[in-house]
Amino acid sequence: MTNYIEAQKAFFITQATKDVSFRIKQLKKLAKLLDDNEAALHKAIHDDFKKSAFENYVTELAFVQHDIKEAIRNIDQWTRVQDVQTNIANFPAKSYIIPEPLGTCLVIGAWNYPYQLSLAPAVAAIAAGNTVIIKPSEMPSNTARVMATLINKAFDPRVLKVIEGGVAETTALLNQDFDKIFFTGSTTVGKIVYKAAAEKLIPVTLELGGKSPAIITKDANLKMAAKRLIWAKFLNAGQTCIAPDYILIHKSKQETFLKYAVAEIEKAKYAFENGNYVQIINDKNFDRLFKMLDASKTYIGGQNNKKDRYIAPTVLTNISWDHPTMKEEIFGPILPVISYYEIDEVFTNVRKFPKPLSLYVFTSNSKTKSRVLNELSFGGGAVNEAVMHISNPHLPFGGVGTSGIGTYHGKAGFDCFTHYKSILDKPTWLELPIKFSPYSKTKLAWLRRLFKLQ
Ligand code: NAD
Repeated sequence: MTNYIEAQKAFFITQATKDVSFRIKQLKKLAKLLDDNEAALHKAIHDDFKKSAFENYVTELAFVQHDIKEAIRNIDQWTRVQDVQTNIANFPAKSYIIPEPLGTCLVIGAWNYPYQLSLAPAVAAIAAGNTVIIKPSEMPSNTARVMATLINKAFDPRVLKVIEGGVAETTALLNQDFDKIFFTGSTTVGKIVYKAAAEKLIPVTLELGGKSPAIITKDANLKMAAKRLIWAKFLNAGQTCIAPDYILIHKSKQETFLKYAVAEIEKAKYAFENGNYVQIINDKNFDRLFKMLDASKTYIGGQNNKKDRYIAPTVLTNISWDHPTMKEEIFGPILPVISYYEIDEVFTNVRKFPKPLSLYVFTSNSKTKSRVLNELSFGGGAVNEAVMHISNPHLPFGGVGTSGIGTYHGKAGFDCFTHYKSILDKPTWLELPIKFSPYSKTKLAWLRRLFKLQ
């Protein structure tokens, strides 16, 4: 492990990765690798948790390909030295900013979108001119293995290397001298990563989790809200960091919304056999979710089968704020619905939780929309939509507070693996004596005038 990191560091100082054409070559190689091996990549993720070819393409491979295209399209502009103004005190200098790669970066992935969450940060890091070690999540073992096999065969390990492993290997990696750590996962492990990085003052991006609410106001388009929310919630069987975790709906609209929601669940035909549904990742998560099922509150769903790690899309109603589903991020196909009478109840209760990674508001009232967007703090979100904000590379993606530190995707991804080096570049033909000692009242008077001009 240490050898790979040392080799990457040595390669980085050769300056080879700073060449834009080198970066583009690596990105194109990755794009081709994913294209050429789509069948193997699909088989691995299907073996791990029955992810369908459709979801594997849309939420994993096409996502990464889109990031690669976006990076290649913009890399010339992103890497350009930026000229900025120079203040009078520095006349006659020039000022500019050089985007500089950080060096050797560690990307630690989560299991729920195993390709996307390991590869999209790596794409950003390579585009920014870094070398990268990827440590994918060990939980989907087939996807971790196929990524390691394909990437380690195709890439120079001094540029990009996958190191497989669980807690022990990740802990060992966290003891190394990386120039950046990019972590996706739980808030609990995020704290471990942050502490380890702090010891060495390594900059971090932490993409964490939390409870993301969906608010439905009394004037919302309920049919569309149900259509979009049900899709967003049960995609990947609810194992999505930005899935709507729970719904807050105006009491007067609850029944109508629930009828539309049931119709959407029935229409989607969620089942492994037809490729429309994903398994729960492992027994531990199945058991955790099983405890949240509550027959007395079930509006639809609740059917489950441990052998297949199956939990049907489940909607729970009449949920109180102290129900087990409201104690932690659900991260599975269980959707609690809580009703409210006054919108102020929503603000008060959402604020009782740590700042969410995402928040969705379904409304046609511009005042309510504006209040929700401006008064509540959350990583990012959508109006009359859920989850899809992640697909726009022009929207920096990340959390706030305990849901994360830093953002990525598109230019934000390039920025998070880049140091912007500020340079004052001064010629030698002029040097006014004003700042030098011996100091005098006259010089001070001139300086006062100069500062007023700035
Ligand atoms: P996790 O924190 O258990 O694991 C993430 C990574 O950390 C894995 O690679 C794992 O090997 C490693 N790890 C686990 N325990 C460790 C330890 N003690 N020391 C060092 N490394 C350790 O998270 P997960 O279960 O893979 O993912 C679920 C969580 O991730 C949810 O909370 C979800 O919301 C969040 N998530 C966030 C995003 C985002 O973009 N913000 C995306 C996906 C998932």
